[in-house]
Amino acid sequence: MKKERIIIIGSGIAGSLAALRLMQDYDVTIITKGTKQESNSMLAQGGVAAAITKDDSPKKHFRDTFQAGCYHNKPLAVCELTTYGPIVIQKLIKEGMTFDQQNGEFLLGLEGAHQMPRILHAGGDQTGKVLTTFIQNQLTAVQWREQEMAIQIIKQDHQAVGVCCLDSNNQLHNYYGEHIILATGGLGQLFPVTTNAKTISGDGLALALNAGATLSDMEFIQFHPTLLFIDGHCHGLISEAVRGEGAKLIRENGTAIMEGVHPLLDLAPRDIVSATLANEIAQGELIFLEITAVKNFESRFPGISASLDNHQVPFRKTKRIPVHPGAHFLMGGVRTDLHGKTNIKGLYAIGEVANTGVHGANRLASNSLLETLVFGEKVAAYIQANPAKKRNQSVTPAPTKHLLAHPLPDKQQLQEKIGIALGITRTEEKLTEFLHWANHFEQANGTCEEAEISNMLLVAKLIATSALKRTESLGAHRILEGVTK
Ligand SMILES: Cc1cc2nc3c(=O)[nH]c(=O)nc-3n(C[C@H](O)[C@H](O)[C@H](O)COP(=O)(O)OP(=O)(O)OC[C@H]3O[C@@H](n4cnc5c(N)ncnc54)[C@H](O)[C@@H]3O)c2cc1C
Repeated sequence: MKKERIIIIGSGIAGSLAALRLMQDYDVTIITKGTKQESNSMLAQGGVAAAITKDDSPKKHFRDTFQAGCYHNKPLAVCELTTYGPIVIQKLIKEGMTFDQQNGEFLLGLEGAHQMPRILHAGGDQTGKVLTTFIQNQLTAVQWREQEMAIQIIKQDHQAVGVCCLDSNNQLHNYYGEHIILATGGLGQLFPVTTNAKTISGDGLALALNAGATLSDMEFIQFHPTLLFIDGHCHGLISEAVRGEGAKLIRENGTAIMEGVHPLLDLAPRDIVSATLANEIAQGELIFLEITAVKNFESRFPGISASLDNHQVPFRKTKRIPVHPGAHFLMGGVRTDLHGKTNIKGLYAIGEVANTGVHGANRLASNSLLETLVFGEKVAAYIQANPAKKRNQSVTPAPTKHLLAHPLPDKQQLQEKIGIALGITRTEEKLTEFLHWANHFEQANGTCEEAEISNMLLVAKLIATSALKRTESLGAHRILEGVTK
């Protein structure tokens, strides 16, 4: 007989791995907003950072993570990530996961702010897809609820006891469990220009906030320097691994942008590269990645090459890819301990939605897939070691819909406002102006669309409030002091 019921919200790598580790002994349900394949995990290109070679060590990985995070990281969390990371990777390899190799040796990529190559990758630039599929293919004993959006954590006696969802016809469904795991990813879709999947709009952060959970470091949002940019629109990511293989950021006239900006040049931490590019763009420059130095571009980056072909970018001839920075990753999130526990009993958070303190003020490239694996394992181990009493679900209250009294803003209008106020460079006046505007709207969850826009508003207000409190720039949070507009 199975033990307690576990509800996992989100089908990225964090949620899927936790489900894999728990499904034999527990009654596991995964609720996911789109299909099970819709997640940022599926889009990850560069790979997973882990100190797995003799020349490397968790200590070196710790140092790079800390430095990139501007020393705002929590040392114990970074220690856990960098020490437990290689163990988790080896376990997956033993179970049959294959990372790219040559002559029996792992092919390791180099990315920004890493002192040495340590990025394991799979399928060239398809690491996220290969890893997610590898894990999900083994999920033979879980119940899937696809196309259902979690809109509320159900609580009883200050404890999380269930999840209320809306299906694609806006019908309510309640699910109850002894352990509720948030694995809903980040918030890229708050912004008009982003690398993130369509379903990643900060829902889990809003769910946690409304349930009374503590969120922290919300002002730290990473903007990736290189999104494919054509005719004023972005079309997915050009991985940092491309710069790791020798590509350079240049202006239209061919001059190198990062020279004289940072000793690591094009592989400087992302906050520095993105801010530099934003400055150039503000001065009217067009930005390109120059790929002449990248050996075997098409075989090393098959997914990116296909995307360039789809968008008719003549990269073989020009050796140039047009790029632009965009919202990519949230360093902050729902505050947890090193087991994924939040301050609400029965509620856990893992992966990008969580703030364990591993990333500090700026995430080191390829540390987030590692985070999903490490904390997916850790939350499962904690639940296995700490049995909870099964509850009688008939006593749990069912949440009600809150119907809308005033119209919410249009999603695109909201994204544009957020882009202006909460983008790469912030000012006190823009943040205050945004809060003044956003405070006019109340929350509603009568439909999936209303719930999503309400969540975006709530999360954006929290980012603006956190950004106003941090009056000095740090890592990915850049605020122009003394500037009013
Ligand atoms: C284009 C791109 C490339 C990247 N490349 C790399 C890389 O090379 N290396 C690296 O380390 N990191 C990379 N990242 C970051 C990394 O992919 C993510 O941080 C990580 O995959 C997050 O995993 P997760 O399981 O926490 O969340 P996700 O994979 O984002 O999954 C979240 C899940 O929650 C679901 N969901 C959201 N809201 C709800 C709701 N209300 N109800 C139900 N379900 C919901 C979503 O649909 C999704 O299934 C990349 C990110 C992007 C966007």
